[in-house]
Amino acid sequence: MPMKRLTRQRRAVLEVLRGTKSHPDAAWVYQEVRKRIPSISLGTVYRTLDALVKEGLVMPLHHGGGATRYDANTMPHPHLYCRRCGAVVDLDLEPPDILKEASERHPELKFETFQLEFEGLCAECAGALAS
Ligand SMILES: [Zn+2]
Ligand SMILES: [Zn+2]
Repeated sequence: MPMKRLTRQRRAVLEVLRGTKSHPDAAWVYQEVRKRIPSISLGTVYRTLDALVKEGLVMPLHHGGGATRYDANTMPHPHLYCRRCGAVVDLDLEPPDILKEASERHPELKFETFQLEFEGLCAECAGALAS
């Protein structure tokens, strides 16, 4: 397979992810990337997302057994998961330095990363329920 095409697909996937704050799943990314590269397959999108995750360019979000969602913002930041509409909202909060404490309390374990998750309602759903 020619490298040029891979590079183009990879760039398109990355640009789609960087252009949204909605933390989309692979199916959504596929729909968007197809607008630029109509011949791309869903399998290729999955493989490209996997590769970007392995390279640390994209962060996967696993939550509640649903489809994996993807975040192009790889700086550690907490999320709120809306229990009503499923939105994933970035929070402007400094995550606590909990990895160090975890390592000290459980030296037998090897901690690599953690995600701080909140559950609740996004602004839209909170507003809809309030009115
Ligand atoms: Zn919501
Ligand atoms: Zn995020």
